[in-house]
Amino acid sequence: MALERERMINTDDGLDTQASVRRANLRRALQLVFRNPGTQTRAGIARSTGLTAATASSLVAELIDTRLVVEGEQAASTGGKRATTLSIDASHHLILVLVIQPLHADIALVALDGSEVETREVSYSPAERDRLLDEAVAEVAAEFRGRLLAVGVQLPGTTDGRSVLESVQLRWQDVPLAERLEQIVDAPVLLVNDVDAEAIAEAGMDESPSGYRLFIHLGGGVGAAVTLDGELAPGPRDRAGEIGHVQVVFGEAARACRCGQRGCLESAAAMGAMLGEEFSDALDPAAIAELVARADQAQIDEGARALARAIKLIAALLDPTEVVIGGPAAQLGPRFLERVRRETEYPARGTAQVPVRYADPRVSLSAGAAQAALTATLGVRWNPQQLRAAPPS
Ligand SMILES: [Zn+2]
Repeated sequence: MALERERMINTDDGLDTQASVRRANLRRALQLVFRNPGTQTRAGIARSTGLTAATASSLVAELIDTRLVVEGEQAASTGGKRATTLSIDASHHLILVLVIQPLHADIALVALDGSEVETREVSYSPAERDRLLDEAVAEVAAEFRGRLLAVGVQLPGTTDGRSVLESVQLRWQDVPLAERLEQIVDAPVLLVNDVDAEAIAEAGMDESPSGYRLFIHLGGGVGAAVTLDGELAPGPRDRAGEIGHVQVVFGEAARACRCGQRGCLESAAAMGAMLGEEFSDALDPAAIAELVARADQAQIDEGARALARAIKLIAALLDPTEVVIGGPAAQLGPRFLERVRRETEYPARGTAQVPVRYADPRVSLSAGAAQAALTATLGVRWNPQQLRAAPPS
Protein backbone atom coordinates (compact mmCIF):
# COMPACT_ATOMS: atom_id res chain seq x y z
CA MET A 1 0.00 0.00 0.00
CA ALA A 2 0.94 3.65 -0.42
CA LEU A 3 2.18 4.10 3.13
CA GLU A 4 5.05 1.71 2.61
CA ARG A 5 6.39 3.78 -0.22
CA GLU A 6 6.60 7.04 1.69
CA ARG A 7 8.43 5.40 4.49
CA MET A 8 10.98 4.49 1.89
CA ILE A 9 11.58 8.09 0.86
CA ASN A 10 14.12 8.74 3.54
CA THR A 11 15.74 5.33 3.66
CA ASP A 12 19.11 5.01 2.07
CA ASP A 13 20.46 1.87 0.50
CA GLY A 14 23.76 2.21 -1.21
CA LEU A 15 23.15 -0.83 -3.40
CA ASP A 16 20.26 0.11 -5.63
CA THR A 17 21.62 3.30 -7.15
CA GLN A 18 18.72 4.03 -9.46
CA ALA A 19 16.16 3.71 -6.68
CA SER A 20 18.19 5.80 -4.24
CA VAL A 21 18.65 8.59 -6.82
CA ARG A 22 14.91 8.54 -7.36
CA ARG A 23 14.29 8.80 -3.60
CA ALA A 24 16.76 11.67 -3.27
CA ASN A 25 14.96 13.49 -6.09
CA LEU A 26 11.57 12.84 -4.46
CA ARG A 27 12.89 14.41 -1.26
CA ARG A 28 14.18 17.46 -3.14
CA ALA A 29 10.89 17.91 -5.01
CA LEU A 30 8.88 17.48 -1.82
CA GLN A 31 11.09 19.97 0.04
CA LEU A 32 10.50 22.53 -2.73
CA VAL A 33 6.73 22.14 -2.28
CA PHE A 34 7.13 22.42 1.53
CA ARG A 35 9.14 25.61 1.09
CA ASN A 36 6.68 27.32 -1.22
CA PRO A 37 3.31 25.62 -0.87
CA GLY A 38 0.62 27.13 -3.06
CA THR A 39 3.06 28.74 -5.48
CA GLN A 40 5.41 25.90 -6.40
CA THR A 41 4.96 24.33 -9.84
CA ARG A 42 6.33 21.39 -11.80
CA ALA A 43 8.35 23.82 -13.89
CA GLY A 44 9.70 25.43 -10.71
CA ILE A 45 10.85 22.04 -9.46
CA ALA A 46 12.53 21.29 -12.77
CA ARG A 47 14.27 24.67 -12.70
CA SER A 48 15.47 24.35 -9.09
CA THR A 49 16.71 20.80 -9.41
CA GLY A 50 18.05 20.88 -12.96
CA LEU A 51 15.94 17.82 -13.79
CA THR A 52 13.99 17.53 -17.02
CA ALA A 53 10.35 18.59 -17.11
CA ALA A 54 9.37 14.97 -17.69
CA THR A 55 11.28 13.77 -14.62
CA ALA A 56 9.85 16.58 -12.47
CA SER A 57 6.34 15.65 -13.62
CA SER A 58 6.93 12.01 -12.84
CA LEU A 59 8.20 12.86 -9.33
CA VAL A 60 5.18 15.08 -8.69
CA ALA A 61 2.87 12.32 -9.94
CA GLU A 62 4.34 9.97 -7.34
CA LEU A 63 4.09 12.58 -4.57
CA ILE A 64 0.44 13.16 -5.45
CA ASP A 65 -0.21 9.43 -5.66
CA THR A 66 1.22 8.91 -2.16
CA ARG A 67 -0.89 11.76 -0.72
CA LEU A 68 2.04 14.01 0.10
CA VAL A 69 1.31 16.72 -2.45
CA VAL A 70 -1.92 18.05 -3.88
CA GLU A 71 -2.62 20.22 -6.92
CA GLY A 72 -3.93 23.71 -6.24
CA GLU A 73 -4.96 26.68 -8.26
CA GLN A 74 -3.56 27.79 -11.56
CA ALA A 75 -0.39 29.83 -11.06
CA ALA A 76 -0.37 33.47 -12.17
CA SER A 77 -0.01 33.67 -15.91
CA THR A 78 3.35 34.68 -17.27
CA GLY A 79 2.06 35.00 -20.79
CA GLY A 80 1.85 31.35 -21.81
CA LYS A 81 -0.21 28.49 -20.51
CA ARG A 82 -1.03 28.75 -16.80
CA ALA A 83 0.80 26.20 -14.68
CA THR A 84 -0.94 24.28 -11.90
CA THR A 85 0.39 25.10 -8.45
CA LEU A 86 1.33 22.47 -5.91
CA SER A 87 0.60 22.36 -2.19
CA ILE A 88 1.18 20.05 0.73
CA ASP A 89 -1.57 17.44 1.04
CA ALA A 90 -2.66 18.17 4.61
CA SER A 91 -5.78 16.03 4.47
CA HIS A 92 -4.37 12.56 4.83
CA HIS A 93 -1.11 11.75 6.63
CA LEU A 94 -0.68 12.59 10.29
CA ILE A 95 2.25 12.66 12.67
CA LEU A 96 1.40 11.50 16.17
CA VAL A 97 3.31 13.40 18.83
CA LEU A 98 3.50 12.32 22.47
CA VAL A 99 5.05 14.75 24.92
CA ILE A 100 5.63 12.58 27.96
CA GLN A 101 6.00 14.16 31.39
CA PRO A 102 6.04 12.54 34.83
CA LEU A 103 2.31 12.88 35.55
CA HIS A 104 0.73 13.58 32.19
CA ALA A 105 1.30 13.44 28.45
CA ASP A 106 0.17 15.83 25.74
CA ILE A 107 -0.87 14.09 22.56
CA ALA A 108 -1.09 15.92 19.25
CA LEU A 109 -1.98 14.85 15.74
CA VAL A 110 -0.09 17.05 13.34
CA ALA A 111 -0.95 17.31 9.65
CA LEU A 112 1.72 17.55 6.97
CA ASP A 113 1.30 21.32 6.75
CA GLY A 114 2.26 21.61 10.44
CA SER A 115 -1.23 22.28 11.78
CA GLU A 116 -2.41 20.44 14.86
CA VAL A 117 -5.53 18.55 13.83
CA GLU A 118 -6.29 17.38 17.34
CA THR A 119 -4.81 17.53 20.82
CA ARG A 120 -5.53 15.38 23.85
CA GLU A 121 -4.13 14.98 27.31
CA VAL A 122 -3.74 11.91 29.43
CA SER A 123 -3.01 12.11 33.15
CA TYR A 124 -1.56 9.26 35.19
CA SER A 125 0.25 8.24 38.31
CA PRO A 126 3.76 6.83 37.76
CA ALA A 127 2.38 3.33 38.36
CA GLU A 128 -0.31 3.69 35.66
CA ARG A 129 1.87 5.56 33.18
CA ASP A 130 2.91 2.68 30.89
CA ARG A 131 -0.56 1.21 30.66
CA LEU A 132 -2.40 4.50 30.08
CA LEU A 133 0.13 5.69 27.49
CA ASP A 134 -0.18 2.42 25.57
CA GLU A 135 -3.97 2.65 25.73
CA ALA A 136 -3.96 6.25 24.50
CA VAL A 137 -1.70 5.33 21.58
CA ALA A 138 -3.85 2.29 20.74
CA GLU A 139 -6.93 4.51 20.72
CA VAL A 140 -5.34 7.00 18.30
CA ALA A 141 -4.02 4.17 16.14
CA ALA A 142 -7.52 2.68 15.84
CA GLU A 143 -9.15 6.02 15.16
CA PHE A 144 -6.68 7.13 12.47
CA ARG A 145 -5.89 3.75 10.97
CA GLY A 146 -3.86 4.01 7.77
CA ARG A 147 -3.14 7.71 8.23
CA LEU A 148 -0.30 7.72 10.77
CA LEU A 149 2.95 8.43 8.98
CA ALA A 150 5.27 8.57 11.98
CA VAL A 151 5.30 8.93 15.74
CA GLY A 152 7.53 11.44 17.54
CA VAL A 153 7.93 10.97 21.28
CA GLN A 154 9.38 13.81 23.34
CA LEU A 155 10.56 13.04 26.86
CA PRO A 156 12.87 14.24 29.61
CA GLY A 157 15.92 12.01 29.64
CA THR A 158 18.63 10.61 27.44
CA THR A 159 17.73 8.54 24.39
CA ASP A 160 19.33 7.03 21.32
CA GLY A 161 16.09 7.48 19.39
CA ARG A 162 14.89 3.92 20.07
CA SER A 163 15.30 3.45 23.82
CA VAL A 164 15.12 5.71 26.84
CA LEU A 165 18.62 5.27 28.25
CA GLU A 166 17.91 7.12 31.45
CA SER A 167 15.20 9.46 32.65
CA VAL A 168 15.47 10.57 36.25
CA GLN A 169 12.09 12.34 36.08
CA LEU A 170 10.25 9.34 34.61
CA ARG A 171 12.34 6.81 36.56
CA TRP A 172 13.03 4.90 33.39
CA GLN A 173 16.26 3.16 32.59
CA ASP A 174 16.94 1.27 29.35
CA VAL A 175 13.30 1.22 28.28
CA PRO A 176 12.88 0.11 24.62
CA LEU A 177 9.94 2.47 24.18
CA ALA A 178 10.06 2.83 20.37
CA GLU A 179 9.88 -0.93 19.91
CA ARG A 180 7.04 -1.19 22.41
CA LEU A 181 4.96 1.53 20.69
CA GLU A 182 5.64 0.12 17.23
CA GLN A 183 3.80 -3.00 18.34
CA ILE A 184 0.75 -0.84 18.99
CA VAL A 185 0.89 1.59 16.08
CA ASP A 186 1.72 0.79 12.46
CA ALA A 187 4.26 3.60 11.98
CA PRO A 188 7.92 4.22 12.77
CA VAL A 189 8.54 5.68 16.24
CA LEU A 190 11.32 8.14 17.04
CA LEU A 191 12.25 9.18 20.59
CA VAL A 192 13.62 12.70 21.12
CA ASN A 193 14.99 14.32 24.25
CA ASP A 194 12.80 17.29 25.22
CA VAL A 195 15.55 19.91 25.05
CA ASP A 196 16.71 18.55 21.69
CA ALA A 197 13.12 18.84 20.42
CA GLU A 198 12.89 22.45 21.54
CA ALA A 199 16.22 23.19 19.86
CA ILE A 200 15.10 21.62 16.58
CA ALA A 201 11.90 23.70 16.55
CA GLU A 202 13.79 26.91 17.38
CA ALA A 203 16.38 26.37 14.65
CA GLY A 204 13.49 25.97 12.19
CA MET A 205 12.32 29.50 12.98
CA ASP A 206 15.10 30.55 10.64
CA GLU A 207 13.98 30.30 7.00
CA SER A 208 17.23 28.55 6.04
CA PRO A 209 19.04 27.65 9.25
CA SER A 210 22.81 27.53 8.86
CA GLY A 211 25.70 27.18 11.24
CA TYR A 212 25.68 26.19 14.89
CA ARG A 213 22.97 27.28 17.28
CA LEU A 214 23.20 26.84 21.01
CA PHE A 215 19.88 26.21 22.74
CA ILE A 216 19.66 26.31 26.53
CA HIS A 217 16.58 25.19 28.41
CA LEU A 218 16.19 26.80 31.83
CA GLY A 219 13.55 25.21 34.00
CA GLY A 220 13.67 22.97 37.05
CA GLY A 221 16.94 21.77 35.53
CA VAL A 222 19.32 23.16 32.92
CA GLY A 223 19.90 21.38 29.60
CA ALA A 224 21.52 22.37 26.35
CA ALA A 225 21.42 21.25 22.73
CA VAL A 226 23.42 22.27 19.72
CA THR A 227 22.01 22.27 16.20
CA LEU A 228 23.96 22.51 12.97
CA ASP A 229 22.12 23.73 9.86
CA GLY A 230 18.80 23.11 11.63
CA GLU A 231 19.46 19.55 12.75
CA LEU A 232 20.98 18.21 15.93
CA ALA A 233 24.73 18.55 15.61
CA PRO A 234 26.23 15.24 14.55
CA GLY A 235 28.31 13.25 16.97
CA PRO A 236 27.61 11.00 19.92
CA ARG A 237 24.41 12.50 21.25
CA ASP A 238 23.23 10.12 23.91
CA ARG A 239 24.38 12.23 26.83
CA ALA A 240 25.36 15.47 25.12
CA GLY A 241 23.89 18.67 26.49
CA GLU A 242 23.92 17.56 30.12
CA ILE A 243 25.62 20.77 31.24
CA GLY A 244 23.65 21.36 34.45
CA HIS A 245 26.32 19.96 36.75
CA VAL A 246 29.38 21.66 35.33
CA GLN A 247 30.90 23.95 37.94
CA VAL A 248 30.71 27.63 36.96
CA VAL A 249 30.60 29.28 40.41
CA PHE A 250 33.64 29.11 42.67
CA GLY A 251 34.68 30.10 46.20
CA GLU A 252 32.27 31.64 48.70
CA ALA A 253 29.52 32.17 46.14
CA ALA A 254 29.31 28.47 45.19
CA ARG A 255 26.06 27.04 46.51
CA ALA A 256 25.32 23.41 47.27
CA CYS A 257 23.71 21.58 44.36
CA ARG A 258 21.13 18.78 44.53
CA CYS A 259 23.75 16.49 42.96
CA GLY A 260 25.99 16.81 46.02
CA GLN A 261 28.62 19.10 44.46
CA ARG A 262 28.91 22.86 44.80
CA GLY A 263 28.78 25.68 42.28
CA CYS A 264 27.09 23.73 39.45
CA LEU A 265 25.35 25.70 36.72
CA GLU A 266 22.03 24.39 38.06
CA SER A 267 22.78 25.52 41.61
CA ALA A 268 22.75 29.13 40.33
CA ALA A 269 20.78 29.26 37.07
CA ALA A 270 18.00 26.67 37.37
CA MET A 271 14.66 28.42 37.85
CA GLY A 272 14.36 27.08 41.41
CA ALA A 273 17.77 28.52 42.30
CA MET A 274 16.68 31.95 41.06
CA LEU A 275 13.03 31.97 42.14
CA GLY A 276 13.05 29.80 45.25
CA GLU A 277 11.86 26.34 46.25
CA GLU A 278 8.29 27.07 45.21
CA PHE A 279 9.26 26.90 41.55
CA SER A 280 8.32 23.74 39.69
CA ASP A 281 8.06 22.89 36.01
CA ALA A 282 4.38 22.14 36.59
CA LEU A 283 3.55 25.81 37.33
CA ASP A 284 1.61 27.77 34.74
CA PRO A 285 3.01 31.03 33.27
CA ALA A 286 0.89 33.22 35.57
CA ALA A 287 2.19 31.46 38.70
CA ILE A 288 5.78 31.76 37.44
CA ALA A 289 5.26 35.46 36.72
CA GLU A 290 4.10 35.87 40.31
CA LEU A 291 7.25 34.18 41.62
CA VAL A 292 9.39 36.41 39.39
CA ALA A 293 7.69 39.51 40.78
CA ARG A 294 8.44 38.41 44.36
CA ALA A 295 11.93 37.06 43.73
CA ASP A 296 15.20 38.47 45.02
CA GLN A 297 16.59 40.27 41.96
CA ALA A 298 20.18 39.76 43.17
CA GLN A 299 19.61 36.00 43.01
CA ILE A 300 18.35 36.25 39.42
CA ASP A 301 21.33 38.41 38.47
CA GLU A 302 23.62 35.78 40.00
CA GLY A 303 21.91 33.15 37.83
CA ALA A 304 22.40 35.31 34.73
CA ARG A 305 26.10 35.62 35.53
CA ALA A 306 26.52 31.87 36.00
CA LEU A 307 24.65 31.14 32.78
CA ALA A 308 26.73 33.69 30.90
CA ARG A 309 29.92 31.93 32.00
CA ALA A 310 28.71 28.66 30.53
CA ILE A 311 27.55 30.39 27.33
CA LYS A 312 30.89 32.16 26.86
CA LEU A 313 32.80 28.94 27.08
CA ILE A 314 30.58 27.06 24.63
CA ALA A 315 30.30 30.05 22.27
CA ALA A 316 34.06 30.51 22.16
CA LEU A 317 34.34 26.92 20.94
CA LEU A 318 31.39 26.75 18.52
CA ASP A 319 31.04 30.30 17.21
CA PRO A 320 27.25 29.87 17.08
CA THR A 321 25.02 32.12 14.98
CA GLU A 322 22.86 32.64 18.07
CA VAL A 323 22.11 31.47 21.57
CA VAL A 324 18.47 30.76 22.39
CA ILE A 325 17.17 30.49 25.95
CA GLY A 326 14.03 28.38 26.20
CA GLY A 327 11.72 26.90 28.79
CA PRO A 328 9.98 28.90 31.54
CA ALA A 329 13.02 31.24 31.69
CA ALA A 330 11.30 33.58 29.22
CA GLN A 331 9.14 34.64 32.18
CA LEU A 332 12.23 36.28 33.69
CA GLY A 333 11.73 39.10 31.23
CA PRO A 334 14.08 41.59 29.56
CA ARG A 335 16.29 42.31 32.59
CA PHE A 336 17.57 38.74 32.85
CA LEU A 337 18.23 38.60 29.11
CA GLU A 338 20.01 41.95 29.26
CA ARG A 339 22.22 40.68 32.11
CA VAL A 340 23.10 37.53 30.18
CA ARG A 341 23.92 39.62 27.11
CA ARG A 342 26.09 42.01 29.09
CA GLU A 343 27.95 39.21 30.85
CA THR A 344 28.62 37.36 27.60
CA GLU A 345 30.32 40.36 26.06
CA TYR A 346 34.01 39.98 26.22
CA PRO A 347 36.82 42.05 24.88
CA ALA A 348 39.02 39.30 23.43
CA ARG A 349 40.24 40.28 20.02
CA GLY A 350 38.72 38.56 17.02
CA THR A 351 35.58 37.51 18.86
CA ALA A 352 32.18 38.81 17.96
CA GLN A 353 29.26 39.27 20.32
CA VAL A 354 26.94 36.30 19.98
CA PRO A 355 23.24 37.26 19.83
CA VAL A 356 21.22 35.90 22.75
CA ARG A 357 17.41 35.73 22.66
CA TYR A 358 14.49 33.96 24.26
CA ALA A 359 12.78 31.12 22.42
CA ASP A 360 9.90 32.02 20.10
CA PRO A 361 6.69 31.69 22.17
CA ARG A 362 4.70 30.87 19.03
CA VAL A 363 6.37 27.49 18.65
CA SER A 364 3.91 24.81 19.74
CA LEU A 365 4.74 22.10 22.25
CA SER A 366 4.55 19.42 19.56
CA ALA A 367 6.60 21.21 16.89
CA GLY A 368 10.09 19.86 17.67
CA ALA A 369 9.17 16.20 17.97
CA ALA A 370 6.88 16.47 14.93
CA GLN A 371 9.69 18.06 12.90
CA ALA A 372 12.17 15.38 14.00
CA ALA A 373 9.73 12.63 12.98
CA LEU A 374 9.00 14.37 9.65
CA THR A 375 12.71 14.65 8.85
CA ALA A 376 13.34 11.02 9.82
CA THR A 377 10.48 9.77 7.66
CA LEU A 378 10.34 12.07 4.64
CA GLY A 379 13.64 13.96 4.83
CA VAL A 380 12.00 17.39 4.63
CA ARG A 381 11.72 20.44 6.85
CA TRP A 382 8.86 22.81 7.55
CA ASN A 383 9.26 26.53 7.03
CA PRO A 384 8.77 28.87 10.04
CA GLN A 385 5.09 29.53 9.19
CA GLN A 386 4.36 25.80 9.14
CA LEU A 387 6.21 25.26 12.44
CA ARG A 388 3.94 27.87 13.98
CA ALA A 389 0.83 26.46 12.34
CA ALA A 390 -0.58 24.97 15.53
CA PRO A 391 -3.42 27.03 16.96
CA PRO A 392 -2.28 28.88 20.12
CA SER A 393 -3.16 26.88 23.22
ZN1 LIG B 1 25.12 19.72 40.51
